[in-house]
Amino acid sequence: MQGPVDVAVSDGTIAASPEAGVWAIETPVLALRWERDRGGDTRLVSLRTGGREWVSSPVPVFAIAGSSMPVAFEDVEATVVDGRSLRLCGRVPPSGLTVVMSVTVYEPDSVVVADIEVENRTGGDVELGSLSSLHLTVPRDGDASLAVLAGGRWDESLPPRGYRLQTTNLDEIGRRVAVGAAADGRSSGEHVPWFALLDDAGGLLAAMAWSGRWQLGIARSGEDNGLTFGISDFSHRLAPGEKLALPSVVLAGFAGDLDDGANAWRRWVSRYWMPSTPPDWPWIQYNHWYAYFGDIDAERLLEEARLAATAGCEVFVIDDGWFRGRRPDSYVAGWGDWVEDLTRFPDGLRAFGEQVRSLGMRFGLWVEPERVDEDGDLVRQHPDWVATRRGGPIRKPGSDGPEGVHLCLGNPEVQRWMTDEIIRVVRDYGVDWLKWDYNMGYGLGCDAEDHGHQSTDGHFAHTHGLYAVLARLRAACPDLVIENCASGGHRIDLGTLRHTHTNWVSDYTHRAAICRQHVQGAGLVLPLVHLNTWALEDRDLSDFRSRMGGAFGVSSFMGRWTAEERATFEQAVAEYRRIRPCLTGDRYLLTGPWHGDWDAWQIVHPSDVSFAILAFRDHGHVSEIRVHPRVPDMDRTWRIERASGGTAETVSGRDLAANGIVISIEEVPGSEILWCSPTSPEADRTG
Ligand SMILES: [Zn+2]
Repeated sequence: MQGPVDVAVSDGTIAASPEAGVWAIETPVLALRWERDRGGDTRLVSLRTGGREWVSSPVPVFAIAGSSMPVAFEDVEATVVDGRSLRLCGRVPPSGLTVVMSVTVYEPDSVVVADIEVENRTGGDVELGSLSSLHLTVPRDGDASLAVLAGGRWDESLPPRGYRLQTTNLDEIGRRVAVGAAADGRSSGEHVPWFALLDDAGGLLAAMAWSGRWQLGIARSGEDNGLTFGISDFSHRLAPGEKLALPSVVLAGFAGDLDDGANAWRRWVSRYWMPSTPPDWPWIQYNHWYAYFGDIDAERLLEEARLAATAGCEVFVIDDGWFRGRRPDSYVAGWGDWVEDLTRFPDGLRAFGEQVRSLGMRFGLWVEPERVDEDGDLVRQHPDWVATRRGGPIRKPGSDGPEGVHLCLGNPEVQRWMTDEIIRVVRDYGVDWLKWDYNMGYGLGCDAEDHGHQSTDGHFAHTHGLYAVLARLRAACPDLVIENCASGGHRIDLGTLRHTHTNWVSDYTHRAAICRQHVQGAGLVLPLVHLNTWALEDRDLSDFRSRMGGAFGVSSFMGRWTAEERATFEQAVAEYRRIRPCLTGDRYLLTGPWHGDWDAWQIVHPSDVSFAILAFRDHGHVSEIRVHPRVPDMDRTWRIERASGGTAETVSGRDLAANGIVISIEEVPGSEILWCSPTSPEADRTG
């Protein structure tokens, strides 16, 4: 390794010294360095967070699967763009491909976004196999670990498998380990495309912006663990002059524990990655699905809407079942031509939506645009729009009759139709909130030869097609809120986060403790306001509070609720409105990221220093625990008020930090909220 860089271009964050063949990025907690060796190859030689070096041997920044060895850059040129982006452009020897890697730096946040683009400047086609957006070699250290996060699974077990953090010491990783997308191709059906490297002082968080097939592979080799992170089951024939962009990878260094890392990560994602959200976000939702399923009409839903509005809901969403064509023998009949069913809504959906708005709520509607009725009008008119594999349509396997077929968004005609159709639905029916569902995957993808994509890259083309449709939809309807739902959490990643405002976490939303655990785990990666769960038929105060760690809602037949249940919900709504501003602030899992008899979360207001502690007791004989919240200001006196009542306590910041605070819950299951705020400075002085 060389000494201090001979700085040719630098603002202190990015240093480039082409003569010496050294390029470096330095942020408070994350530092990366690439060097050209004597043979001319340029490799990543260092990736440090805090004091720890994570690169155990120099690693090529680009590799082509199928070739015997990863290939390193030669003939590298580097430029610094706008002082915050390092652009390395090089030629990859065996293929002659040109590869451009751009690393954009968010210096105060210790975050970089790495983008790789491949260009064929040779005279002939070049075959690209599965491509990884990130390569690393990490040491086999016993005092550091790799963490991955399970995705959104249908989940009746407790503790849930969904969004479970799985950690392995780096010296215990087996010969070859791989995690990735679900077999059906949905990105987070098995694991979220994210991983963490952790040690006692901090670590590295990494996520890929990709909503389709992907893989994180770790292979043991000597003293290294070789790690690749990229799209899988893919190949593409790159024509002369053609460019192809790989999914972006976001890398974040952090100091402290995983809560500190997750807090910084969520702040960055909310600020720089996700669409902005409306004021008073997230809105408290009513969704009709679990109360009525497909058995709906305007009269019944309007009655529910009145109750929901009175109880404090802020958006009323009609889920599946509003369109014409549904038949008893086919769940998907009518899908593909998304036209209102005037037998159920005689005055039309726009008029229904106006009534909802007159009650003070926004109006929402569900669609599943990527899946259509095989016997419907759309497929009859455009049989070639269906995604196919080995000559047959890609179907959702089902036991109770037709389950629909998958459209191919690798086909630009389908992209245009879908964009126009969904914009029409939003505009014609006056939709404020669109729930975009995706209950089937594309498997290995469409292999049709006549859709405008290649036979081996159908899933890649579909995923980019989806992004294009969502981008055009948002440009045409800038105030529209989009809820991302893929059977609950099966396509939740930085790719969908780029275009959507909230995410339905899991279709298993029936048991409070499971919903709570899902949000607890998913919140390690995703902004809390992006995590949407509802109360169904369980509706005591703890059940409602268990859904308050993210976006809160209800899906229940409110007309059957007792007066007491209504009053409990109204109390929950009042509590949630007090908690809501804290959801964009820091969260600390005071009982750790794993499920136990108790869960306790501290959530801190992002601008004033007050915080709330939500505590839940689910099992066991222990009716009292002591938790140690992070005290935002040690020099203040803190007033602690318990939602269960009693006199408010005051305690000095130092005492609170040193001794923590005791929480008692007698009931099982039961819950408590502690509201903690500093007393006024005058009170501090006189006290
Ligand atoms: Zn296709």
